[in-house]
Amino acid sequence: MPMSQEFKQRLFPRIREIAAHYGTPFHIYDEAGILATGAALKQAFAGIDGFREYYAVKALPNPRILALMKDMDFGFDCSSIPELVMSRRIGARGEEIMFTSNNTSREEFDAAAAEGGCILNLDDISLLAKVPNFPELICFRYNPGPRRTGNVIIGNPVEAKYGIAHDQVISAYRMAMERGARRFGLHTMVASNERDCTYIIETARMLLELTALVDDELGIQFEFVNIGGGLGIPYRPEDNALDLATMAQEITAQFNEFKARRGFAPRMYMESGRWMTGPHGVLVTTAINHKNIYRKYIGVDSCMSSLMRPALYGSYHHIDVVGKENVPATEVYDVVGSLCENNDKFAVQRHLPPIHDGDLLVIQDTGAHGYAMGFQYNGRLRPKELLLRTDGSVELIRRPETVEDYLRTLEFAPDTMPAPGR
Ligand SMILES: *Cc1c(COP(=O)(O)O)cnc(C)c1O
Repeated sequence: MPMSQEFKQRLFPRIREIAAHYGTPFHIYDEAGILATGAALKQAFAGIDGFREYYAVKALPNPRILALMKDMDFGFDCSSIPELVMSRRIGARGEEIMFTSNNTSREEFDAAAAEGGCILNLDDISLLAKVPNFPELICFRYNPGPRRTGNVIIGNPVEAKYGIAHDQVISAYRMAMERGARRFGLHTMVASNERDCTYIIETARMLLELTALVDDELGIQFEFVNIGGGLGIPYRPEDNALDLATMAQEITAQFNEFKARRGFAPRMYMESGRWMTGPHGVLVTTAINHKNIYRKYIGVDSCMSSLMRPALYGSYHHIDVVGKENVPATEVYDVVGSLCENNDKFAVQRHLPPIHDGDLLVIQDTGAHGYAMGFQYNGRLRPKELLLRTDGSVELIRRPETVEDYLRTLEFAPDTMPAPGR
């Protein structure tokens, strides 16, 4: 089931009033839903000492949302300097931040080390020599290659640019020790939007076994394994939800078994983005045009600058027409934006109730990789973001982009190099 029923019950009775106050389009996020999901995640893994979620900032990089994560004592998974800056701005420090970059630059290493540092997660063995001030705590991202078949979105690990290869693992940690590392973690990210919990259970097993291998070889007791993000959510009404309880039970059992066998178990970290916020956001947009040519089109007042997933991956996002939830879906529409790309479609050949100009459409499950992925191509600007707070109030947490924002990078000091020989 897309978008939680609780969120729907909180939002739908007030949606016209909210749309009238703020104007469409906007993403609106459900504070109560995010907090409940965070509490459930902690509860599920309470049996693993030191369990911690590092929220994947890229999923919904808004400081107000990150502050909710901080309140739940979550850390932050960052992979760029702006993400580091935003996480630190809301007060995250040191080991509350994991920096999981790839193709890392010197500038990024410097930013990672600034302001009390963070957990550095190295993507390649060649980067060992490039870390300016080698930290005491180091982590590597592992790419299992042919040992795992990737899931649908991430694909085959052999073709993935991330991480160190299996046969590099021992030398990577040995070299890290030579550079002065004394504390160690191990990370992987082999799934995306995976709703089969056995895949993620196998990931945890794979990492635990690998730490044992390194320990046997180098005498390293790992402080943590980070199983990555990639927990899937149901976007389609017929999709099953990931079985969090079974997943947590099985992974907890693995940690207990590991501890019984080896007298010690690492902590477990996770860096979910989609799981934490995906179902707790929707894009609210108004139907402004309809046209009938070879197909019937509903034009709305937002476009792929607000939500790229349908255009990028052909992703399904469920749509409700406000006030017509119980009207039979007798029409077949393409729901489109106004960008000059034919893949600027929120829905293709979707069965929906008859839609009229002025109807509010709720495009669901935009709380992760929604606003964040938007771009400005074609001069299409990004929308505002709202937070539906637990007490029922609504807060503007990002204003919409303006033409002035769009033109801002054209304001700069002139800088021209003379032609050669002048
Ligand atoms: C994108 C990403 C995540 C979050 O993925 P979700 O599918 O949103 O859970 C976590 N870790 C890394 C390294 C990522 O690149």
